[in-house]
Amino acid sequence: MNKNHLLKQIEEVQESVRQMKEDDLQENPETANEEFQCDCCAEIKTFAGSMIYEDYRLCNDCVLLAEVGFTLNKIKTIDEFMASMEDKRFETIYNTLFKVDNIEK
Ligand SMILES: [Zn+2]
Repeated sequence: MNKNHLLKQIEEVQESVRQMKEDDLQENPETANEEFQCDCCAEIKTFAGSMIYEDYRLCNDCVLLAEVGFTLNKIKTIDEFMASMEDKRFETIYNTLFKVDNIEK
């Protein structure tokens, strides 16, 4: 597989994931204001463009990462993807729990 072909595939995935979010916003504008904690990156994200994979709900950003991973055959199952995001998830949860907002320099 040459590099241009690969890039083209990634662009197609990006486009379809982006489109998914726009479709959501058009069909259900209220999803823009609804938030959930992404099972993958643990960040609070908008419902628009999120997707269910088996037991997980992923935000639009993570859907993109997962779909690119699938397309490039880097991952085969969603569990593999979840495992690969474990560090990122931990970091986010850690920062959320221990973030100190009120300290000024
Ligand atoms: Zn996410």
